[in-house]
Amino acid sequence: MAGDYYEILGVPRTATKEELKSAYRKMARKYHPDVNKDNDAEERFKEINRAYEVLSEPETKARYDRFGEAGVSSGGGSGGVGFDPNDMGGFADIFETFFGGGFGGGGGTATGPRRRGPTRGDDLRLDLTLEFREAVFGGEKEIKIPHLETCSTCNGSGAKKGSSAKTCGTCNGTGQVRRATRTPFGSFAQVSTCPTCNGEGQIIEEKCESCGGQGTKQVNKKLKITIPAGVDTGTRLRVSGEGDAGSRGGPSGDLYVYLSVKTDPHFKREGNNILSELSISYLQAILGCRIDVPTIDGDHKVTIAAGLQPNTVLTLEDKGVPKLGNSVSRGDHLLTIKIDIPTKINSEERELLEKLAQIKGEHTSKRGFEGFFESIFHK
Ligand SMILES: [Zn+2]
Ligand SMILES: [Zn+2]
Repeated sequence: MAGDYYEILGVPRTATKEELKSAYRKMARKYHPDVNKDNDAEERFKEINRAYEVLSEPETKARYDRFGEAGVSSGGGSGGVGFDPNDMGGFADIFETFFGGGFGGGGGTATGPRRRGPTRGDDLRLDLTLEFREAVFGGEKEIKIPHLETCSTCNGSGAKKGSSAKTCGTCNGTGQVRRATRTPFGSFAQVSTCPTCNGEGQIIEEKCESCGGQGTKQVNKKLKITIPAGVDTGTRLRVSGEGDAGSRGGPSGDLYVYLSVKTDPHFKREGNNILSELSISYLQAILGCRIDVPTIDGDHKVTIAAGLQPNTVLTLEDKGVPKLGNSVSRGDHLLTIKIDIPTKINSEERELLEKLAQIKGEHTSKRGFEGFFESIFHK
């Protein structure tokens, strides 16, 4: 194909969308093969259509403006411009917390009406359950994912070794066929996907035996991923490039790991805070004490002041969950103190407590049921 797309349509490079459209209409009418019987009319008509096809889409127009034809043709060598077909080697973990759904679940990426040329692989989803502590402290985790990888036998071309894909004869490699349809309202150029090559623009005559001509293979891959400290149920990790392989040299999709976290018998989690309860005796509450409290870092000594009231919440600062993406900052441990009232006391204890009640001038029942039995059996 020859000529600048703007020149073909006869508009300046600064033309607006409307100007492009009306120029296209004018030119298309003039060179329509049904109207114009000049020898080169059909060729011109094709050029006009191609030029407008590219310039009418903001995305392809931008690429054409920057790179010229090379930016919008998909036949050339190492994949079109705008993709990075290089295997990135390794991967980056990026975490993001999402609320609610909104993920397509491997539904594929929008590729527009044309499917030829390099196509990005699908994104994949993996659900992963973590132990309570794994989520709090993070760490490495081995996962296994079934995904598509580029076939190593044919390097993704789908063609048998020694052979190569041929340009489709039906559509001359464009992946589309055009037909002029006559209606009472005039003639229209109807564009549809080429039935011979399914829009690929290329035909594989001898298929690669390893992948059956697909260019990709389903593989179960073992992968080590890094779980950052502080993740929670609902956190989504993106492992870039570990989704399905792209086709025709297109980049791979990403793998999204959706996390859910198991509960713990001792600790509850509320955001970055850890919640737990601790029971002390009524004597410890009245007299005060120093006591070991289990935290996610291990036992931590806590001073209970004399006269502590039931259900008091003590804050152990920085003993909570590390904040996601912030290695220094942590939440707190909120400790609710429960006070045990004994259901049984022995006679010596009872004596002392009765004496205490006398001092305080409080009325108490003299001997409980238990005391009665004790007096029977111990006399
Ligand atoms: Zn293959
Ligand atoms: Zn074709």
